[in-house]
Amino acid sequence: MLDFNHQPRLHERFTQVIDQALDAERAHQMPRQYLGASRLGVSCERALQFEYAGAPVDPGKGFSGRTLRIFEVGHALEDLAIRWLRLSGFDLHTRRRDGSQFGFSVAGARIQGHVDGVIADGPADLGLVFPSLWECKTMNDKSWRETVKKGVAVAKPVYAAQIAVYQAYMEAAIPGISTHPALFTAINKDTQELWFELVPFDGGLAQRMSDRAVRVIQATEAGELLPRGFVDPNHFECNWCDWQERCQRVGGGR
Ligand code: SF4
Repeated sequence: MLDFNHQPRLHERFTQVIDQALDAERAHQMPRQYLGASRLGVSCERALQFEYAGAPVDPGKGFSGRTLRIFEVGHALEDLAIRWLRLSGFDLHTRRRDGSQFGFSVAGARIQGHVDGVIADGPADLGLVFPSLWECKTMNDKSWRETVKKGVAVAKPVYAAQIAVYQAYMEAAIPGISTHPALFTAINKDTQELWFELVPFDGGLAQRMSDRAVRVIQATEAGELLPRGFVDPNHFECNWCDWQERCQRVGGGR
């Protein structure tokens, strides 16, 4: 009798073993106990609340092994960007003197952020004013080309919100960082092309994101569920959401 069941091929079995190891490693990491400032720009406040509250994700959702690998490749490429910038004369700092990552912690440590770097000096003719915030992302070709075409504020509003919030909250530790444009860097993972963009501080955006963080924290601590970000439960953002089933189960309008 013919067996039509799919037998995993060699590369699939290797990948499975690696993904299981990555999953196991992640399972041992402490879950985040704070609202990550890099996430404040996401489109749905309820999803942000689920994330902050540590609500279990729906069965089958969450980070797959492939997603974890994408994150690690991103970090490795970011290290390369650091090398390239330093090699070309930028005084780029990614760690404090004590070795810890640059970042901030506010609202009783309920809101925290870790910045990719701070540029203290660099080639004079490139338009940077120092100190400036450095934020680096890696993207596939389609996403990178959209960012180049539209700019980070339009193409990647979550990243733009992250930059504005980081500039605002880092000002106390690094005076001037909020008044000088940030340097946004995007690496095309398919072609290795680089995109650099000077991002002026958007104080209004930083304030809106800060207000949003307060809403999420206060609602969570009061045991109140924030409204849905989308009326249609099958909106494409909801289909991507890790809490789609939970969100429909608990109900509540917009
Ligand atoms: S399912 Fe949609 S509305 Fe509900 S939390 Fe997720 S993104 Fe927001």
